[in-house]
Amino acid sequence: MTAHMRDVFPPPPERAEADGALRDAAAEFAVAAGAEDVVAALDRAVSRLTPPGSSHELRIRLLEDSALAACRRPDSGEPGALLPIEVDIPGAGPVGILLVDPVTAATPHLRPLLEALSAQAALAMERIRLAAEVGRYRSFREIEALMEQTHDVVLIVDGDDCIRYASPSARNVFGTSALRHVKLVDFIDAAQRPAADFLLRHVRSGVAGAGESRADWTIRALDGRAPVVEVTCRELHPGDAARDVALTLHDVTAQRRLEHDLTERMFHDSLTGLPNRVLFAERTEHAVAADDGLLAVLLVDLDDFGSVNDSFGHAVGDEVLHQVSRRLRDVIGGHGVAARFGGDEFAALVQGAGTAAEVEDTARHLCHSLGAPIRTSGGTVVVCGASIGVATTAHARNVHELLRNANLALRAAKSAGAGHWRGYEPSMTDRARQSELRADLGRAVGDGALFLEYQPIVALGTGRTVGFEALLRWQHPTHGRLPPGEFIEIAEESGLIVPIGEWVLATAMRAACRWHTAGQVRAPYLSVNVSAQQFRSDGFVDTVAHLLTQTGLPAHRIVLEITESLLLRDDDKVWHALELLRARGARVAIDDFGTGYSALGYLRQVPLDIVKLDRLFVRGLTTSRRQRDLVEGIVTLTRALNLDIVAEGIETEHQRQASVATGCAYGQGYLFATPMPEAETLAWLAEEQAAFAKSSFGPS
Ligand code: C2E
Ligand code: MG
Ligand code: MG
Repeated sequence: MTAHMRDVFPPPPERAEADGALRDAAAEFAVAAGAEDVVAALDRAVSRLTPPGSSHELRIRLLEDSALAACRRPDSGEPGALLPIEVDIPGAGPVGILLVDPVTAATPHLRPLLEALSAQAALAMERIRLAAEVGRYRSFREIEALMEQTHDVVLIVDGDDCIRYASPSARNVFGTSALRHVKLVDFIDAAQRPAADFLLRHVRSGVAGAGESRADWTIRALDGRAPVVEVTCRELHPGDAARDVALTLHDVTAQRRLEHDLTERMFHDSLTGLPNRVLFAERTEHAVAADDGLLAVLLVDLDDFGSVNDSFGHAVGDEVLHQVSRRLRDVIGGHGVAARFGGDEFAALVQGAGTAAEVEDTARHLCHSLGAPIRTSGGTVVVCGASIGVATTAHARNVHELLRNANLALRAAKSAGAGHWRGYEPSMTDRARQSELRADLGRAVGDGALFLEYQPIVALGTGRTVGFEALLRWQHPTHGRLPPGEFIEIAEESGLIVPIGEWVLATAMRAACRWHTAGQVRAPYLSVNVSAQQFRSDGFVDTVAHLLTQTGLPAHRIVLEITESLLLRDDDKVWHALELLRARGARVAIDDFGTGYSALGYLRQVPLDIVKLDRLFVRGLTTSRRQRDLVEGIVTLTRALNLDIVAEGIETEHQRQASVATGCAYGQGYLFATPMPEAETLAWLAEEQAAFAKSSFGPS
């Protein structure tokens, strides 16, 4: 695509406007009585989503209806100049097309929105068609034949949870059509029965929110299959004594399997199949929480792995890693967790170790085992050896401290020479420096020693800056400039993160008010990192609201970056705060996605707008086919949920191209720019403006 073409991309609709358009359209589709109503609702929604001046045209028809219901906008161009988006009923085929002009069709934001809208319209058309057919058919048998055509299953259960009616397609899910008078819960996986029971009672209680409740159930079909269905339930006749409940079951087996597979792959090392660092940390956290005796973490670093690769090639190197993982597993046994952190770094969690002496035995045994020669299938004999750092819960309260201590011990082991292990000792931690930093940090805000830098977030397709992330730095009087990694944790532990976070928000918002761009391109948004403590502190939402009013920064220009662990907590306060902030128009991004252990499916449940894919994934894009497939899967899922994706840590052109190829629309990284002082952001925008103006209008 040429720079000129890129420059004429219309700006995407505001998120709130897009959400509103989709929501209003869904409401109108639900009550549409005929094809014309669907066409009119679709037309209104498309007009709201696309920028003024763009053209579109709708051609929708009922499947058995020869009359074409077309709606042509006055400013539409020739149909030949417009690109089609099919309005498709899954499994049944097209019921129409939505034609949009090429620029709109090529705009990355708009395409999925228009496709989602078209899919909704198609389903509405299908409902209307079925209703019309039902009106025409008189006998129940004929209605049944009609229901056969729909893929979803419709059930009606009575007050005793017995099935009174099941649509013919129920056979596909339950493996039988003999469902009448059978108790529905008997078909549901035993583990989910209490929840299913609760859901049905909840729906009947009349307090089920909008009158509809949803859940995922695994069905135990008579033919041995176990399909997963998304269930929507509602009371058939609210207030009626009969207490009948209508359920719609949508088969989501393939979708959930994909989510599950991707989640599994995200948290396992693709070469050895061992858990990766993230999953290891999560398992260790659980073990610490279970508080079941002494726990030990062993960090393993192969001593001379680099030269194995260099001397014998990568195939031998891979085989060595395989064998190391096997030996690690053998030594740790069934009660522990073995993991590969990447490269030649492994880790083990030893549970139920009993005493410190037993942990030491394990470390010694592992050192010995990994030091023994490795014979590969090709007959090459390799002696690698390993250094091991050991930490236990005797000196650590959580997984973070365990890993930090094990790292310090590993460093000591390495400096003792190859093939050694060392246990952590408190003298290895530089406590003096920690408490000095804690004391100094209290004064840093008042002293003006904290400052911010801003790193551009760019649209990968056009290269244009769409936002800046504010990143905190500390000019320490004696240690010099400190990155956030050295003091954010201290700020969090001491509670100082609340006033510091407020200072960050206020300072960055004032900076963002000065960012302007000319022409069609919107002023960049501001992305701010927010710690869990800030979210949980009283008045956080009010603080943000107050700062927005005080600085005059429009709410849609702020993004709050939060971590996965924050979302995973079942914390009403956090969820409520997120909802309030989003209701005001602010957006929420999940930062370093993939570094906290969470199933992908949870993205469906949380109030989010943006996913920032951790740079580990971006790095993997260019090094491994499997990693690329994984990221593609993640991108597909997040897109289906209407979330934007920012690929973090893009350092090379190769990584940029790979990110684009996997479908990431936005990126951030040293390739585009390193974090810069505020003053440079204005020059950055001005320069970019000039460059784009030149490439669009200047001589080519
Ligand atoms: P983050 O939010 O994921 O920010 C991105 C980090 O990646 C920044 O590190 C940035 O300098 C770095 N980075 C950007 N592009 C590249 C690249 O191409 N390659 C590599 N290797 N790194 C890149 P930084 O500034 O050291 O910040 C580290 C973390 O500290 C941030 O990670 C964020 O979690 C936290 N942080 C920064 N500012 C704040 C703040 O104001 N409040 C809170 N609570 N946390 C902050
Ligand atoms: Mg961030
Ligand atoms: Mg990040």
